[in-house]
Amino acid sequence: MAVWQKPRFTAIIANMVEKVIPIRLDEGKGLTPSIGAQLVTPHGHTKDTRGRTLRDLRISVTDRCNFRCTYCMPKEVFDQNYPYLAHKELLSFEEITRLTSIFSTLGVEKIRLTGGEPLLRKNLEVLIEMLAKISALDGKPLDLTLTTNGSILRKKAAALKAAGLQRLTVSLDGLDDAIFKKMNDVDFPVADVLDGIAAAQEVGFQNIKVNMVVKKGTNDHEIVAMAKHFKGSGVILRFIEFMDVGSSNGWNMEQVLPSKEVIARIQEVFPLEPIEANYAGEVAQRWRYVDGSGEIGVISSVTQTFCHECSRARISTDGQMYLCLFANEGFDFKTLLRSGKSDLEIANAVMNTWAAREDHYSEIRGSNTAKLTSGNRKVEMSYIGG
Ligand code: SAM
Ligand code: SF4
Ligand code: SF4
Repeated sequence: MAVWQKPRFTAIIANMVEKVIPIRLDEGKGLTPSIGAQLVTPHGHTKDTRGRTLRDLRISVTDRCNFRCTYCMPKEVFDQNYPYLAHKELLSFEEITRLTSIFSTLGVEKIRLTGGEPLLRKNLEVLIEMLAKISALDGKPLDLTLTTNGSILRKKAAALKAAGLQRLTVSLDGLDDAIFKKMNDVDFPVADVLDGIAAAQEVGFQNIKVNMVVKKGTNDHEIVAMAKHFKGSGVILRFIEFMDVGSSNGWNMEQVLPSKEVIARIQEVFPLEPIEANYAGEVAQRWRYVDGSGEIGVISSVTQTFCHECSRARISTDGQMYLCLFANEGFDFKTLLRSGKSDLEIANAVMNTWAAREDHYSEIRGSNTAKLTSGNRKVEMSYIGG
């Protein structure tokens, strides 16, 4: 029976947010999830301490990437000396499938594969095929989607579609080659990402989204050009506020362009009106063009937080469950998976972990919070999955 192991913590006072922030001394080892003494039958009603139900799971399938986006994997940190995970540390396809299956018995309906760059994981389509066979509690197939930088999408699109992937999100931060190359920092051209999106459309993906991270002073002048490009194309463009994820992207509030300003800039050229969310807990606020030529979304993770309805759990590349994008530690499910525990035991561990969840980082973020990197090191997005 797994026992809750209290990590060794010390504490500092973060004066701006007046909150005690724990610092792990035994860095690199996840917390042991508690299976509990009385096993209960898995169900889809587990709520966390703030009344939020588990619905979505994001799975990082690799911590590696062929881009070095300055806001995510800056070159100076993610160089040839960076300690990427060894292959044996990664969850295997069988382990990911088993875990997904267990999460589906707990009410999870939506799975997003991410990374790092998920298409770099060898034979990813084989994993997709395995996941596509899993049903949600209501008997319907899981909503299976993937976020990619699009760099090898032309090569992979047909295999992904055939394997049963339903939806795709492609990241693209501008149409100006010089700006995009500066942001991906590996000289990757815009045209190849656009070609990847075209390939996905050709093989029949209908629900394609494009994510643009907006960094004020870097690519915000590309907002209207991006809107114009995707307007009427069937692709839904979403603008994401630059976030203080990880501990290496040098975030500061001055580089955040509030989503309401994104909307205002587009409104000046193409009139927009707000529309209802597709479902409770949707992270993007939706807007449609008044002339009927499609919709856009804004993800205001910094200026209009949505922690109160956050239904997402994350599984890192090496099988740690994270309860928040900004967490600094995870729960070690890889060890549970590899130590002969039954599905029922693992399901109970997930339920107990979720039930104890308190996270609401974005609601308590202060301008100083992100600077506490020496003490409160947050995990990198490429490892935990965006
Ligand atoms: N490599 C894939 C990609 O870029 O689409 C998937 C992983 S990436 C970490 C997932 C998403 O997170 C991308 O859309 C990326 O733009 C976004 N992202 C990464 N760092 C971010 C940051 N600091 N603020 C906001 N979004 C960020
Ligand atoms: Fe790679 Fe995606 Fe991060 Fe860019 S945002 S460095 S493409 S993982
Ligand atoms: Fe969810 Fe954490 Fe983001 Fe809040 S800050 S929305 S709890 S992931």
